[in-house]
Amino acid sequence: MSTTSNRTVIMAKEVGFCFGVKRAINLTKQALSERDGVFILGDLVHNKRVTDELEGKGLRKVDDYSSEQKGTMVIRAHGLPKERVAEAKLRGIDVVDATCPIVLRAQEAAQTLERDGYQVVIVGDKNHAEIKGILGALENPALVVDSIEELHEAKRSFRLLRKIGVIFQTTHALELCNSIVNEMLMMCKEIRIINTICRPVQNRQDDALDLAEKVDLMIVVGSTTSANTVELAALCRHHNANTIHVQNADELDPETYSNCKIVGIASGLSTPEDLVEAVRLKVLSDEPALATTSA
Ligand code: SF4
Repeated sequence: MSTTSNRTVIMAKEVGFCFGVKRAINLTKQALSERDGVFILGDLVHNKRVTDELEGKGLRKVDDYSSEQKGTMVIRAHGLPKERVAEAKLRGIDVVDATCPIVLRAQEAAQTLERDGYQVVIVGDKNHAEIKGILGALENPALVVDSIEELHEAKRSFRLLRKIGVIFQTTHALELCNSIVNEMLMMCKEIRIINTICRPVQNRQDDALDLAEKVDLMIVVGSTTSANTVELAALCRHHNANTIHVQNADELDPETYSNCKIVGIASGLSTPEDLVEAVRLKVLSDEPALATTSA
């Protein structure tokens, strides 16, 4: 916690990269230092500062590898469908797999459910890279739903009434998943659930929600293209309407917190720690010197 005579700033217990993002960045840096022609499909993480830095070290971002004949492809933390990995290897491309171990466990959970005869249902965003990776790990089509409305829509075309096996996008909020699963209970005879929500994500969400309830203003720091940051900000807003989402200290308008005595700060899992620290310092510097603490 940091406190001045007029304001206290409380930081969430954990800010900065999660271990999966740290691991992916380290593996990419190692590949860049040891190999030539390192490229990646899409962004390694959803943070421009980080991707700019890696591109400065030589990482090439490509939308498709069909024109790549050699080189090294980094698989990002969200994973990649297995047929795409196999296809790249067939083309003679080396692969550095930075898929987060927790995402790999979600893929394995979906495979287990499929093998045991369940219709796999994934609660998640069908356009997210992680979900595409999980779908690519399965032999048969899975159903992907991200809201109760989508579940009802799917019921018309999918046979949901017998055995379904459910997993969750690793970065999803338990609150959202719970409400969808409750609805499924009214539609199906047998449901097996494997909780694939990432523990670091859940800990951060729980911590941020506790914090949001105690403060006059909650600030969530991270990219607007980062799904977990956007979701964290939405959750905090649900518990404290006075929540703002900023990408960095430059986006902070001092007017927003000029009358706030207690300000909380949390961050997404792909937000560099120094960006969060810069936000904390800015909130403090607009007041006579305070002190800071952890939640
Ligand atoms: S949020 Fe969780 S699943 Fe995603 S990269 Fe970080 S540790 Fe892995």
